[in-house]
Amino acid sequence: MPTSRFAQRLFIAITLLFCVGLPANLSAHTTPKNLIAPSLVLKNTLQLSLSHAHPSQLVQQCINALFLSEIATLDTFFPSLKDDPHAMQFASPWVIPHRSPWPTNDAGIPLVTTEPTQALWHTITRRRDLRWVKQRYRTNLTTLQKLNPDIDLLSLSEGDEIKTWQRDNDTISYGRGTPNRGRLVDGEPLPTADKYVIMHQHRAFGTYYITSHLKELFDTYALAFPEAQPVVIGDLSHRTGRRIKPHLSHQSGRDVDITYPRHDEPKSFTKFHYIRRSNLDATRTLWLVKQMAQSGYVEKIFMDYWVQRKLYHEAQERGAPQEWLDAVFQYPKWGGQAFIERAKGHDDHMHIRYYCQHTDMHCKLSAP
Ligand SMILES: [Zn+2]
Repeated sequence: MPTSRFAQRLFIAITLLFCVGLPANLSAHTTPKNLIAPSLVLKNTLQLSLSHAHPSQLVQQCINALFLSEIATLDTFFPSLKDDPHAMQFASPWVIPHRSPWPTNDAGIPLVTTEPTQALWHTITRRRDLRWVKQRYRTNLTTLQKLNPDIDLLSLSEGDEIKTWQRDNDTISYGRGTPNRGRLVDGEPLPTADKYVIMHQHRAFGTYYITSHLKELFDTYALAFPEAQPVVIGDLSHRTGRRIKPHLSHQSGRDVDITYPRHDEPKSFTKFHYIRRSNLDATRTLWLVKQMAQSGYVEKIFMDYWVQRKLYHEAQERGAPQEWLDAVFQYPKWGGQAFIERAKGHDDHMHIRYYCQHTDMHCKLSAP
Protein backbone atom coordinates (compact mmCIF):
# COMPACT_ATOMS: atom_id res chain seq x y z
CA MET A 1 0.00 0.00 0.00
CA PRO A 2 1.40 3.44 -0.88
CA THR A 3 2.84 5.18 2.15
CA SER A 4 3.17 8.85 1.35
CA ARG A 5 0.06 11.00 1.23
CA PHE A 6 0.67 12.00 -2.37
CA ALA A 7 1.11 8.40 -3.50
CA GLN A 8 -2.03 7.44 -1.64
CA ARG A 9 -4.08 10.18 -3.32
CA LEU A 10 -2.67 9.24 -6.71
CA PHE A 11 -3.59 5.64 -6.08
CA ILE A 12 -7.16 6.60 -5.13
CA ALA A 13 -7.45 8.81 -8.21
CA ILE A 14 -6.32 6.03 -10.55
CA THR A 15 -8.63 3.51 -8.84
CA LEU A 16 -11.54 5.91 -9.21
CA LEU A 17 -10.86 6.53 -12.87
CA PHE A 18 -10.60 2.83 -13.46
CA CYS A 19 -13.78 2.13 -11.47
CA VAL A 20 -15.82 4.80 -13.19
CA GLY A 21 -14.42 4.22 -16.67
CA LEU A 22 -14.65 0.51 -17.11
CA PRO A 23 -18.22 -0.15 -15.96
CA ALA A 24 -19.39 2.84 -18.01
CA ASN A 25 -17.63 1.34 -21.01
CA LEU A 26 -19.13 -2.06 -20.33
CA SER A 27 -22.58 -0.62 -19.83
CA ALA A 28 -22.45 0.76 -23.37
CA HIS A 29 -22.80 -2.85 -24.49
CA THR A 30 -25.52 -3.91 -22.10
CA THR A 31 -29.27 -3.68 -21.98
CA PRO A 32 -30.82 -1.17 -19.54
CA LYS A 33 -31.63 -4.02 -17.16
CA ASN A 34 -27.94 -4.84 -16.92
CA LEU A 35 -26.98 -1.32 -15.97
CA ILE A 36 -27.75 -2.06 -12.33
CA ALA A 37 -24.31 -3.47 -11.54
CA PRO A 38 -22.25 -0.64 -13.09
CA SER A 39 -24.44 2.03 -11.50
CA LEU A 40 -24.10 0.33 -8.12
CA VAL A 41 -20.33 0.41 -8.57
CA LEU A 42 -20.41 4.11 -9.25
CA LYS A 43 -22.59 4.80 -6.24
CA ASN A 44 -20.42 2.71 -3.90
CA THR A 45 -17.18 4.10 -5.25
CA LEU A 46 -18.32 7.69 -4.91
CA GLN A 47 -19.64 7.04 -1.42
CA LEU A 48 -16.32 5.49 -0.46
CA SER A 49 -14.25 8.28 -1.89
CA LEU A 50 -16.39 10.87 -0.12
CA SER A 51 -15.90 9.05 3.17
CA HIS A 52 -12.10 9.05 2.64
CA ALA A 53 -12.05 5.28 2.47
CA HIS A 54 -8.89 3.31 2.76
CA PRO A 55 -7.47 2.48 -0.70
CA SER A 56 -7.78 -1.26 -0.03
CA GLN A 57 -11.53 -0.87 0.49
CA LEU A 58 -11.84 1.11 -2.73
CA VAL A 59 -10.03 -1.60 -4.64
CA GLN A 60 -12.16 -4.33 -3.04
CA GLN A 61 -15.38 -2.52 -4.03
CA CYS A 62 -13.98 -1.95 -7.47
CA ILE A 63 -13.15 -5.63 -7.99
CA ASN A 64 -16.56 -6.73 -6.67
CA ALA A 65 -18.29 -4.33 -8.96
CA LEU A 66 -16.25 -5.05 -12.04
CA PHE A 67 -16.84 -8.71 -11.48
CA LEU A 68 -20.57 -8.10 -11.23
CA SER A 69 -20.52 -5.98 -14.38
CA GLU A 70 -19.00 -9.01 -16.02
CA ILE A 71 -21.94 -11.09 -14.87
CA ALA A 72 -24.28 -8.45 -16.24
CA THR A 73 -22.62 -8.57 -19.64
CA LEU A 74 -22.19 -12.31 -19.66
CA ASP A 75 -24.86 -12.93 -22.27
CA THR A 76 -23.37 -10.34 -24.58
CA PHE A 77 -19.76 -11.48 -24.50
CA PHE A 78 -19.78 -15.15 -23.52
CA PRO A 79 -22.93 -16.80 -24.85
CA SER A 80 -21.18 -20.19 -24.64
CA LEU A 81 -21.02 -19.88 -20.84
CA LYS A 82 -24.81 -20.10 -20.72
CA ASP A 83 -24.46 -23.87 -20.24
CA ASP A 84 -23.19 -23.24 -16.73
CA PRO A 85 -25.17 -20.25 -15.54
CA HIS A 86 -22.95 -19.86 -12.47
CA ALA A 87 -19.52 -20.01 -14.10
CA MET A 88 -18.92 -16.26 -13.77
CA GLN A 89 -19.93 -16.14 -10.12
CA PHE A 90 -16.96 -18.38 -9.43
CA ALA A 91 -14.55 -16.68 -11.83
CA SER A 92 -12.64 -14.75 -9.13
CA PRO A 93 -9.61 -16.45 -7.49
CA TRP A 94 -10.04 -18.97 -4.66
CA VAL A 95 -8.55 -16.93 -1.83
CA ILE A 96 -7.26 -18.97 1.13
CA PRO A 97 -8.97 -17.94 4.40
CA HIS A 98 -6.88 -15.32 6.19
CA ARG A 99 -7.26 -12.48 8.64
CA SER A 100 -7.68 -8.85 7.52
CA PRO A 101 -8.04 -5.81 9.72
CA TRP A 102 -11.19 -3.76 9.11
CA PRO A 103 -10.21 -0.56 7.24
CA THR A 104 -9.95 2.58 9.32
CA ASN A 105 -9.28 6.26 8.70
CA ASP A 106 -6.07 7.99 9.81
CA ALA A 107 -7.47 8.38 13.33
CA GLY A 108 -8.14 4.63 13.60
CA ILE A 109 -11.92 5.01 13.33
CA PRO A 110 -13.52 2.08 11.44
CA LEU A 111 -14.88 2.97 8.01
CA VAL A 112 -18.38 1.66 7.48
CA THR A 113 -19.77 2.17 4.00
CA THR A 114 -23.12 0.40 4.34
CA GLU A 115 -26.06 2.42 5.58
CA PRO A 116 -26.55 1.65 9.29
CA THR A 117 -29.97 1.42 10.95
CA GLN A 118 -30.89 4.75 12.57
CA ALA A 119 -33.72 3.65 14.85
CA LEU A 120 -35.90 0.65 15.74
CA TRP A 121 -39.64 0.78 16.39
CA HIS A 122 -42.05 -1.62 18.05
CA THR A 123 -45.82 -1.89 17.82
CA ILE A 124 -47.43 -2.71 21.16
CA THR A 125 -49.65 -5.81 21.23
CA ARG A 126 -51.34 -7.61 24.09
CA ARG A 127 -48.48 -10.07 24.48
CA ARG A 128 -45.67 -7.82 23.33
CA ASP A 129 -46.29 -4.97 25.76
CA LEU A 130 -43.92 -2.53 27.45
CA ARG A 131 -42.66 -5.21 29.83
CA TRP A 132 -41.81 -7.46 26.90
CA VAL A 133 -39.90 -4.60 25.22
CA LYS A 134 -37.92 -3.84 28.39
CA GLN A 135 -36.94 -7.49 28.79
CA ARG A 136 -36.23 -8.34 25.18
CA TYR A 137 -34.31 -5.19 24.33
CA ARG A 138 -32.44 -5.34 27.63
CA THR A 139 -33.48 -1.80 28.44
CA ASN A 140 -35.37 0.15 31.12
CA LEU A 141 -38.14 2.69 31.48
CA THR A 142 -35.81 5.69 31.84
CA THR A 143 -34.01 4.92 28.56
CA LEU A 144 -37.28 4.23 26.74
CA GLN A 145 -38.81 7.45 28.07
CA LYS A 146 -35.83 9.42 26.72
CA LEU A 147 -36.36 7.81 23.32
CA ASN A 148 -40.08 8.60 23.39
CA PRO A 149 -40.36 12.00 25.12
CA ASP A 150 -43.88 12.71 23.84
CA ILE A 151 -45.42 9.37 24.79
CA ASP A 152 -46.77 8.38 28.17
CA LEU A 153 -45.27 4.92 28.38
CA LEU A 154 -47.37 3.93 31.38
CA SER A 155 -50.64 4.20 29.48
CA LEU A 156 -49.88 2.48 26.19
CA SER A 157 -52.57 0.75 24.16
CA GLU A 158 -52.40 -1.97 21.54
CA GLY A 159 -51.24 -0.61 18.20
CA ASP A 160 -49.13 2.20 19.72
CA GLU A 161 -45.68 2.54 18.23
CA ILE A 162 -42.68 3.23 20.40
CA LYS A 163 -39.01 3.70 19.59
CA THR A 164 -36.93 0.93 21.14
CA TRP A 165 -33.47 1.92 20.02
CA GLN A 166 -31.72 4.86 18.45
CA ARG A 167 -28.31 5.12 16.91
CA ASP A 168 -25.71 7.23 18.71
CA ASN A 169 -23.21 8.40 16.12
CA ASP A 170 -20.61 9.21 18.78
CA THR A 171 -20.16 5.58 19.81
CA ILE A 172 -18.51 2.58 18.16
CA SER A 173 -19.95 -0.85 18.87
CA TYR A 174 -17.52 -3.37 20.32
CA GLY A 175 -17.37 -6.77 21.93
CA ARG A 176 -15.85 -7.43 25.33
CA GLY A 177 -14.61 -10.89 26.25
CA THR A 178 -15.14 -14.13 24.36
CA PRO A 179 -18.16 -15.36 22.39
CA ASN A 180 -18.93 -17.78 25.25
CA ARG A 181 -18.41 -15.31 28.05
CA GLY A 182 -18.71 -11.78 26.87
CA ARG A 183 -20.85 -8.79 26.23
CA LEU A 184 -21.60 -6.27 23.57
CA VAL A 185 -21.22 -2.54 24.10
CA ASP A 186 -23.23 -0.06 22.02
CA GLY A 187 -24.34 -2.95 19.82
CA GLU A 188 -26.10 -2.06 16.62
CA PRO A 189 -28.93 -3.82 14.79
CA LEU A 190 -28.43 -5.68 11.55
CA PRO A 191 -29.75 -3.47 8.72
CA THR A 192 -32.44 -4.92 6.47
CA ALA A 193 -31.62 -6.40 3.04
CA ASP A 194 -33.55 -7.99 0.19
CA LYS A 195 -31.88 -11.37 0.42
CA TYR A 196 -32.34 -12.09 4.11
CA VAL A 197 -35.15 -12.03 6.62
CA ILE A 198 -34.25 -11.14 10.21
CA MET A 199 -36.03 -13.61 12.49
CA HIS A 200 -35.95 -11.55 15.71
CA GLN A 201 -34.98 -7.91 15.61
CA HIS A 202 -34.23 -7.82 19.34
CA ARG A 203 -31.76 -10.72 18.94
CA ALA A 204 -29.96 -9.31 15.90
CA PHE A 205 -27.49 -6.85 17.44
CA GLY A 206 -23.78 -6.97 16.70
CA THR A 207 -20.60 -5.03 16.22
CA TYR A 208 -20.24 -2.66 13.24
CA TYR A 209 -18.15 -5.18 11.29
CA ILE A 210 -20.57 -8.10 11.49
CA THR A 211 -23.65 -5.97 10.71
CA SER A 212 -22.12 -4.08 7.80
CA HIS A 213 -20.27 -7.04 6.33
CA LEU A 214 -23.43 -9.19 6.35
CA LYS A 215 -25.36 -6.40 4.68
CA GLU A 216 -22.69 -5.95 2.01
CA LEU A 217 -22.31 -9.69 1.48
CA PHE A 218 -26.03 -10.22 0.88
CA ASP A 219 -26.35 -7.14 -1.32
CA THR A 220 -23.63 -8.66 -3.52
CA TYR A 221 -25.45 -12.02 -3.29
CA ALA A 222 -28.57 -10.26 -4.64
CA LEU A 223 -26.61 -9.16 -7.72
CA ALA A 224 -24.97 -12.53 -8.23
CA PHE A 225 -28.18 -14.54 -7.69
CA PRO A 226 -31.12 -12.22 -8.37
CA GLU A 227 -33.61 -15.12 -8.36
CA ALA A 228 -32.48 -16.54 -5.01
CA GLN A 229 -34.97 -16.78 -2.16
CA PRO A 230 -33.94 -14.84 0.95
CA VAL A 231 -32.20 -16.80 3.69
CA VAL A 232 -33.27 -16.49 7.31
CA ILE A 233 -30.91 -14.77 9.75
CA GLY A 234 -31.34 -16.17 13.23
CA ASP A 235 -29.55 -14.90 16.29
CA LEU A 236 -26.64 -12.53 16.45
CA SER A 237 -26.63 -11.15 20.02
CA HIS A 238 -28.83 -9.27 22.45
CA ARG A 239 -28.31 -5.51 22.49
CA THR A 240 -25.98 -5.83 25.47
CA GLY A 241 -24.62 -9.28 24.59
CA ARG A 242 -24.21 -11.81 27.43
CA ARG A 243 -26.14 -15.09 27.69
CA ILE A 244 -28.69 -15.67 24.96
CA LYS A 245 -30.66 -18.90 25.28
CA PRO A 246 -30.25 -21.58 23.97
CA HIS A 247 -26.72 -20.74 22.80
CA LEU A 248 -23.44 -21.00 24.63
CA SER A 249 -21.87 -18.39 22.38
CA HIS A 250 -23.40 -15.38 20.56
CA GLN A 251 -22.46 -13.27 23.60
CA SER A 252 -20.09 -10.65 22.18
CA GLY A 253 -21.69 -9.57 18.91
CA ARG A 254 -19.55 -11.47 16.43
CA ASP A 255 -21.59 -14.67 15.85
CA VAL A 256 -24.51 -15.17 13.50
CA ASP A 257 -26.76 -18.10 12.49
CA ILE A 258 -27.91 -18.23 8.87
CA THR A 259 -30.05 -20.82 7.08
CA TYR A 260 -28.56 -22.52 4.03
CA PRO A 261 -29.75 -21.38 0.62
CA ARG A 262 -32.17 -24.03 -0.62
CA HIS A 263 -33.64 -25.24 -3.91
CA ASP A 264 -37.22 -25.39 -2.68
CA GLU A 265 -39.15 -22.62 -1.01
CA PRO A 266 -39.09 -22.82 2.81
CA LYS A 267 -42.48 -23.20 4.53
CA SER A 268 -41.98 -19.85 6.25
CA PHE A 269 -39.31 -17.31 7.06
CA THR A 270 -40.11 -17.19 10.76
CA LYS A 271 -38.01 -20.15 11.88
CA PHE A 272 -35.28 -22.55 10.73
CA HIS A 273 -36.71 -25.46 8.76
CA TYR A 274 -35.22 -28.89 8.40
CA ILE A 275 -33.39 -29.21 5.09
CA ARG A 276 -33.08 -32.45 3.11
CA ARG A 277 -29.76 -33.13 1.39
CA SER A 278 -31.38 -32.83 -2.01
CA ASN A 279 -32.75 -29.38 -1.09
CA LEU A 280 -29.48 -27.77 -0.05
CA ASP A 281 -28.33 -25.35 -2.74
CA ALA A 282 -24.63 -26.20 -2.72
CA THR A 283 -23.76 -23.64 -5.41
CA ARG A 284 -25.08 -20.64 -3.52
CA THR A 285 -23.89 -21.90 -0.14
CA LEU A 286 -20.40 -22.41 -1.57
CA TRP A 287 -20.46 -18.92 -3.06
CA LEU A 288 -21.20 -17.47 0.40
CA VAL A 289 -18.39 -19.53 1.94
CA LYS A 290 -15.96 -18.41 -0.77
CA GLN A 291 -16.83 -14.74 -0.19
CA MET A 292 -16.47 -15.13 3.57
CA ALA A 293 -13.07 -16.81 3.20
CA GLN A 294 -11.95 -14.07 0.83
CA SER A 295 -13.07 -11.19 3.08
CA GLY A 296 -10.56 -11.90 5.83
CA TYR A 297 -13.16 -10.95 8.46
CA VAL A 298 -14.58 -14.42 9.14
CA GLU A 299 -12.73 -16.63 11.58
CA LYS A 300 -14.78 -19.85 11.44
CA ILE A 301 -17.92 -21.39 10.05
CA PHE A 302 -19.62 -24.23 11.92
CA MET A 303 -21.54 -26.78 9.84
CA ASP A 304 -22.65 -30.39 9.96
CA TYR A 305 -20.31 -32.89 8.35
CA TRP A 306 -22.68 -33.87 5.51
CA VAL A 307 -22.93 -30.23 4.43
CA GLN A 308 -19.13 -30.00 4.31
CA ARG A 309 -19.01 -33.11 2.13
CA LYS A 310 -21.52 -31.68 -0.30
CA LEU A 311 -19.77 -28.31 -0.51
CA TYR A 312 -16.36 -29.98 -0.87
CA HIS A 313 -17.50 -31.83 -4.00
CA GLU A 314 -19.17 -28.72 -5.37
CA ALA A 315 -15.94 -26.72 -4.90
CA GLN A 316 -13.90 -29.50 -6.51
CA GLU A 317 -16.19 -29.47 -9.55
CA ARG A 318 -15.85 -25.71 -9.81
CA GLY A 319 -12.08 -25.94 -9.96
CA ALA A 320 -11.05 -25.03 -6.39
CA PRO A 321 -7.35 -25.83 -5.90
CA GLN A 322 -6.47 -28.57 -3.40
CA GLU A 323 -4.76 -26.02 -1.17
CA TRP A 324 -8.07 -24.13 -0.82
CA LEU A 325 -10.04 -27.32 -0.16
CA ASP A 326 -7.57 -28.35 2.56
CA ALA A 327 -7.71 -24.95 4.24
CA VAL A 328 -11.49 -24.66 4.12
CA PHE A 329 -12.81 -28.17 4.87
CA GLN A 330 -12.14 -30.82 7.49
CA TYR A 331 -13.69 -33.31 5.06
CA PRO A 332 -12.52 -35.93 4.00
CA LYS A 333 -10.72 -36.18 7.36
CA TRP A 334 -12.93 -36.33 10.42
CA GLY A 335 -11.30 -33.59 12.44
CA GLY A 336 -8.42 -31.14 12.41
CA GLN A 337 -8.13 -27.42 11.88
CA ALA A 338 -10.04 -25.86 9.01
CA PHE A 339 -12.04 -22.74 8.19
CA ILE A 340 -15.24 -24.81 8.35
CA GLU A 341 -15.56 -26.94 11.45
CA ARG A 342 -17.90 -29.71 12.31
CA ALA A 343 -20.50 -28.91 14.90
CA LYS A 344 -23.60 -30.96 15.60
CA GLY A 345 -26.97 -29.27 15.27
CA HIS A 346 -25.90 -27.26 12.23
CA ASP A 347 -27.92 -29.16 9.65
CA ASP A 348 -30.53 -26.42 9.23
CA HIS A 349 -28.23 -23.42 9.59
CA MET A 350 -24.58 -22.41 9.57
CA HIS A 351 -22.96 -20.53 12.41
CA ILE A 352 -20.49 -17.86 11.36
CA ARG A 353 -17.99 -16.35 13.73
CA TYR A 354 -16.16 -13.16 12.84
CA TYR A 355 -12.63 -12.22 13.84
CA CYS A 356 -12.28 -9.59 16.56
CA GLN A 357 -11.13 -6.20 15.37
CA HIS A 358 -8.86 -3.75 17.18
CA THR A 359 -11.94 -2.07 18.67
CA ASP A 360 -12.87 -5.21 20.69
CA MET A 361 -11.53 -5.94 24.17
CA HIS A 362 -10.19 -9.16 25.75
CA CYS A 363 -11.21 -11.05 22.65
CA LYS A 364 -10.21 -14.63 21.79
CA LEU A 365 -11.45 -17.73 19.98
CA SER A 366 -13.51 -20.32 21.82
CA ALA A 367 -15.76 -23.28 21.05
CA PRO A 368 -19.19 -22.81 19.32
ZN1 LIG B 1 -25.08 -20.22 16.38
